Amino acid sequence: MGSEQVRAVGSGNKSLQAVLSSPGVKGKKVSSLGKGSKQGVFDLIQSIVNKKQEVKDPFYVLDLGVVVGLMEKWNLALPNVRPFYAVKCNPEPAFLGALAALGSGFDCASRAEIEAVLSLGVSPDRIVYANPCKAETHIKYAAGVGVNLTTFDSRDEIEKIRRWHPKCALLLRLKAPSDSGARCPLGPKYGALPEEVAPLLQAAQAARISVAGVSFHVGSGATHSSAYLGAIAAAKSVFETAAKLGMPRMRVLNIGGGFTMGPQFDEASTTIKSALRGYFPDEPRFTLMAEPGRFFAETAFTLATNIIGKRVRGELREYWINDGIYGSMNCILYDHATITALPLACSSNAGNPTCRGMRTFGSTVFGPTCDALDTVLTGHQLPELQVNDWLVFPNMGAYTASAGSNFNGFATSAICTRLCYSNPC
Ligand SMILES: *Cc1c(COP(=O)(O)O)cnc(C)c1O
Repeated sequence: MGSEQVRAVGSGNKSLQAVLSSPGVKGKKVSSLGKGSKQGVFDLIQSIVNKKQEVKDPFYVLDLGVVVGLMEKWNLALPNVRPFYAVKCNPEPAFLGALAALGSGFDCASRAEIEAVLSLGVSPDRIVYANPCKAETHIKYAAGVGVNLTTFDSRDEIEKIRRWHPKCALLLRLKAPSDSGARCPLGPKYGALPEEVAPLLQAAQAARISVAGVSFHVGSGATHSSAYLGAIAAAKSVFETAAKLGMPRMRVLNIGGGFTMGPQFDEASTTIKSALRGYFPDEPRFTLMAEPGRFFAETAFTLATNIIGKRVRGELREYWINDGIYGSMNCILYDHATITALPLACSSNAGNPTCRGMRTFGSTVFGPTCDALDTVLTGHQLPELQVNDWLVFPNMGAYTASAGSNFNGFATSAICTRLCYSNPC
């Protein structure tokens, strides 16, 4: 492990070549875009729906160039921290294949996620089974395929591991001391409390299960980088407790997820590097890992939806689109996401499909199901659109399709993904 392997594929075009020939991508159609990715994706969507008038179903566009750029950004900012992409955030096979080609490991939480990653030819030692509470049948499966690193925060989990997978090494999942600033805090569900650490380590010792190190998660969509500082300090004290108990030296620190692309990432990586220097200087044979989900997925995917209905009430414009709260936009409910829609009026306004300069109306956008909760946007300014026009939603890669349902016969799982690459350099 370590940064050498992450960087082995090099940068820029070489990385892109590796991505294009990776399992999950190879053999699929990949459209090339010019420079300036966002406009490029929008143009691509426009050409797809113009060329094939019969295309009406919603679809995603995955920009593989964005994924390459994000991995470069990660490797520059946190060169010693190996990413294990959190599959639950978006398990699209081409996306997983691209990340595998770029040297990423994977955080899997279930048998199906492990299967998805292994089917891309990724070796089991690049997987952390990062679910602190696993079903016995899934543990047996992990043992069978050689996934030998997992997390725990309870005695019962140690007992299950002893019984079904005693060769598995453990990471003690700590409750991050402060995850209150996160969009989705995980502390209420997972993580050992400070007073539980020593008894859990002793229980693992008694069960003769190796505890390789510590993991935590500061909450998804973390907003305060100080959360990482507090959690790294807490991890250090676990290392010290283990040493006091005479356990073999711990060698893994897993700093989890919580990263968001943009200034938040820059701030988080600076804080993490300085905390690591302070608390873990010169650890020999030390493995640093992280489990970013949102960081890699969010900006790589754009969703195109078709307007299937319209109602005018005075000044108000109401539109129905063919994806919604029970589908990709479940992120509004579960991930507390704020989303934006760009108009693509290629049916009603082909001469100016982006509707630049046109008058806008306060608009409501509904999803397709018969539940009033299925409301995607309210009070959104949009130009006058018509049935068969499109609404395009950028930054829709994180916790969208992965958590959608098939409610009312609208199948999120059937939404297809088209691949493209913008020039990452
Ligand atoms: C969900 C999850 C992640 C990914 O979190 P992001 O905030 O998307 O980076 C990582 N690790 C674990 C254990 C998770 O449950």
